[in-house]
Amino acid sequence: MAEYKTVDSQEFPRFSGIRTFMRMEYVKTTQDVDFAVVGIPFDSCASYRVGSRFGPSAIRDISSLTKPYNPVLNANIFDYCNGIDYGDVRTVPGYIEDSFDSIQTEMHTLFAGGVVPIAMGGDHSVTLPELRACYETHGQVALIHFDSHYDTWEEYFGKKYNHGTPFRLAANEKIIDTSHSVQVGIRGGLYTREDTQMSPDLGFYVLTAPECHKMGMEEVICRIKERVGDKKAFLTFDIDFLDPAFAPGTGTPEIGGFSTAQALEIIRGLKDLNIVGYDVVEVAPQYDCGNITSFAAANLMTEFMAHLAYRKIKK
Ligand code: MN
Ligand code: MN
Repeated sequence: MAEYKTVDSQEFPRFSGIRTFMRMEYVKTTQDVDFAVVGIPFDSCASYRVGSRFGPSAIRDISSLTKPYNPVLNANIFDYCNGIDYGDVRTVPGYIEDSFDSIQTEMHTLFAGGVVPIAMGGDHSVTLPELRACYETHGQVALIHFDSHYDTWEEYFGKKYNHGTPFRLAANEKIIDTSHSVQVGIRGGLYTREDTQMSPDLGFYVLTAPECHKMGMEEVICRIKERVGDKKAFLTFDIDFLDPAFAPGTGTPEIGGFSTAQALEIIRGLKDLNIVGYDVVEVAPQYDCGNITSFAAANLMTEFMAHLAYRKIKK
């Protein structure tokens, strides 16, 4: 039985207590920890609507509704894993480099301590310092990137740091192996036709949303698994991968997206991959309705935890 686990909901109702993610213990340790949920409340790189600095608190709030046993994977998270809420990374609003340094340092502690981080943004720029930290421990990883956007722009407003640029920078810094990386769910209008070439030119495999809808989710899973192989991977999930009908609470929504059921199917299909870090980004609760966006994010995060339990059972 895990030392660090969630509160027993038969003893204490799920609406009670101080909010940590899934009512796990708030501890700043890597000792005997399998995974740590960590908040990265930073949105100074958003190009349109800000507000994802409040993502972690909104996700924590609704996460008390999630449960530890995943019937599809037949895995009870805390039978196999010690999990904690590591709290939030220190950020400096408006100061990108300072925040990135701080994010990298704290994420390094987790990766180097043998912990699988499950981070919650913040805007998508925070994934860059996460990947820098990941590289320090794991070397080049494959990137599994769910998003409606490529996020591989050269620059935005003449600046290199923006939530639309992290994966060009990660590719250029050679902290990810683009030859095993995949971007899934890309859709929506662009500025020019050349924009569709940015990611392929960097070596990414791209599965656009129209292609995914046409081939079906089962085939999407096959393509991702084939691309990643047995390489170590980092999974980043921009909540705008979901259709705005399922996730309105985000900064730059795009129609023609995916349902939460489809997202669950894909994520569960990736349970065998060697994923060493996860994040969910771009939840902006101000634009949410009935907390559905933060609830989707919280559930995706518990799916990631179930991955880890499943892989321990399989060993
Ligand atoms: Mn993104
Ligand atoms: Mn996006």
